[in-house]
Amino acid sequence: MSTPSMAAEKSTAPDLSRITLVVHGGSGNVTPRSVPPAMAEQYRQGLERALKAGHAVLAAGGSSVDAVVVAIKVMEDDPLFNAGKGAVFTAAGRNELDAAIMDGRTGKAGAVAGVTTVKNPITAARAVMDHTRHVLLAGEGADAFAADRKLEIVPPSYFHTPHRWEQLQRAREGNRLQLDHDGAPRRSSMKETPPEPWEVDHKYGTVGAVALDAQGNLAAGTSTGGLTNKLYGRIGDSPIIGAGTYADNGTVAVSATGTGEFFMRGVVAYDIAARMKYARQPLSESVEHTLREALTDRQGRGGVIALGRDGQLKMGFNTEGMHRGYVRADGVPVVKSFAD
Ligand code: ASP
Repeated sequence: MSTPSMAAEKSTAPDLSRITLVVHGGSGNVTPRSVPPAMAEQYRQGLERALKAGHAVLAAGGSSVDAVVVAIKVMEDDPLFNAGKGAVFTAAGRNELDAAIMDGRTGKAGAVAGVTTVKNPITAARAVMDHTRHVLLAGEGADAFAADRKLEIVPPSYFHTPHRWEQLQRAREGNRLQLDHDGAPRRSSMKETPPEPWEVDHKYGTVGAVALDAQGNLAAGTSTGGLTNKLYGRIGDSPIIGAGTYADNGTVAVSATGTGEFFMRGVVAYDIAARMKYARQPLSESVEHTLREALTDRQGRGGVIALGRDGQLKMGFNTEGMHRGYVRADGVPVVKSFAD
């Protein structure tokens, strides 16, 4: 169980044996039937690449914030995931990306919402945290800020991928707003048939990372294209501090994935931290409690990765599955997609 946050402001003596990184690549209708073996293997590789990149930072004594950024960048550059390249489309046929990061040591946070030209939105979120007095920049202003900071800028067409475009057409046909990994229609007849290629494409997801560095500092980050067929200007939970992303050295670092509206209404990431801080609930119990109240009881769907300052971790979800994994000091990644 974590110690109360008041005592946790300061870093402790460096200890490489405690370094831990946890990542997710989205939750949803992720089952052995909906994710064929070749696709599952791609997820495994994608998550492992992210874990190894972030672990290298931590193993070299780097900060949890750096490790989170590095791990998320790997997944943003991988079209498999609904973040950066591979982001889903809005109803208007655009890619509008959200990202956030929070430093559990300082309590500082940065986020961007609705950016269309930043190759790696997580780097823009970090720049907001490091170089402004603000927490969240949105839309054109956020894109302009990223350009001013000399971050890598790409034309909006960079984010256009054929499988996401097809996913939007499917969602439009059904006039559905969908979690991108929940793309498969729930027709009972489909139980027996193998997934169509477009369905397979839906098993991508928002990405997130939480890390504990050798100094004992926690950080959390999340990056997403949001929901397929979302309304113009819609912003989800990922860039909302306390909803989809939160870190506090005294309690826990959390990154979420799922139907963002429920995570915002339930202030999910912070609710998990608050249970630990005020009610002294253990990490695992806090995650389960919050997911039940904020999601399951309200018909919301999704999951979280949560990492405590003592290295305890929980990868919880109320969906069929969640792409997820972790690596500790030994550097051996553990990756899963389906329910245990
Ligand atoms: N939480 C994200 C959002 O609502 C979507 C996801 O996790 O796939 O924008």
